[in-house]
Amino acid sequence: MKFYLFSLGCKVNSYENDLLREEFLQKGLIETDKPEEAMIIVLNPCSVTSTADQKSRQHIRKFRRLSPKAILVVMGCYSQKNFLEASTIGADIVLGTSHRKEIPALIVRFEKERKPIILVDKDNRKEKYEEFGSFALPDNTRAYLKIQDGCNYFCSYCLIPFVRGNSRSRSRESVLREARLLVEKGYKEIVITGIEIGFYGLDLSDGSYRLGNLLRDILEENPTLFRLRVSSLNPSEVDDSFLSVIRDFPAFSSHLHLSLQSGSTKVLKEMKRPYTAEEYYEKLQLIRAIRPEIAITTDMISGFPSETEKDFLESLDFAEKCHLAEIHCFPYSPRKGTFAYTLKDLPAEVKKNRNARLIDLSKKLREDYKEKFYGKELDVLFEEYDEKKGISYGHTSNFLLVKVTSKSNLHGQVKKVAYTKENAAD
Ligand code: SF4
Repeated sequence: MKFYLFSLGCKVNSYENDLLREEFLQKGLIETDKPEEAMIIVLNPCSVTSTADQKSRQHIRKFRRLSPKAILVVMGCYSQKNFLEASTIGADIVLGTSHRKEIPALIVRFEKERKPIILVDKDNRKEKYEEFGSFALPDNTRAYLKIQDGCNYFCSYCLIPFVRGNSRSRSRESVLREARLLVEKGYKEIVITGIEIGFYGLDLSDGSYRLGNLLRDILEENPTLFRLRVSSLNPSEVDDSFLSVIRDFPAFSSHLHLSLQSGSTKVLKEMKRPYTAEEYYEKLQLIRAIRPEIAITTDMISGFPSETEKDFLESLDFAEKCHLAEIHCFPYSPRKGTFAYTLKDLPAEVKKNRNARLIDLSKKLREDYKEKFYGKELDVLFEEYDEKKGISYGHTSNFLLVKVTSKSNLHGQVKKVAYTKENAAD
């Protein structure tokens, strides 16, 4: 029997699909990249913006149309909130952000009964992290390792805490076991992921074992691991133990994605973000005192309802002052159920215009950052090979994308490359 997996949105969704892939393969199922051939389709979509919801609906309809007889499973943030809609428009099995471990059994049940299944916990405040197997497919360079789920902040524009629930940490033992397994399988890079990884450990025992402690343990236990990276982090979670990991372990990547969202303290307050622009800047200084050339990338929202033109200009100035290496730019998207939804939305053209200016700034900052490394020799971990063109692609520790002409596939190899304008691939 063939299966097809598809995820939209964050790395947590692709990680969950990777685990499911492993489980299906172990059960003797065969993966296909053609949904029309599959008898089981699992879709793990996103709900972070209204556009993401729309895309999720489109994909459910598309997969239903392409493979009318397949068992269509939909799980994740979108269906936690829109489970009835997901079922009505074509999903056979609907899960929210829990019970994912039960998918194989639910598929068997559906095959027998042929009745739609909806298994969504309305109250998603959970005490414990839901274990969901271990991921260890061979022959790869980068693996995602999920360490927590949920979020305890309620940023005024964000729906995630409503659909993912409160923060739950995976146990230290379980994370370390998976890290060891990944290293044994030959993975060169591990990316620590979760919904808000800065909350790691708060719910474990006395709450004193936090993200920095976990990263230290992973690196100490796996001295052959080439690179450890973390996904997005809030500046308020950068504490002494985290900073000491950056200082003590060269294998810890020279790239941090530190969420900013706005460079105006006034807007940050209205967004209910847990830091001020000044605090963000202080954290940057502490990080750069240890790794002066580290790449700091970020997310920023343009056109939050209360953002004035003056606030926006302040935000642009602040981002420039921070010498960010790249900004992921998002125009504000109102999400029903959040506090910000009750505020008057700015006209679409204002949001579009501000976002375009933010993108321009990001392009400039990116070029400025890259320029600092032209002529320098950097370690590149190769991840992809374009056979037709004979080009291998890989990333440096500070997440510069590099391409080199190679007769053979360099996948999984680490090579020193002189970084130039010509081989910069982004
Ligand atoms: S920190 Fe804020 S933006 Fe991030 S998931 Fe939590 S509530 Fe949403």
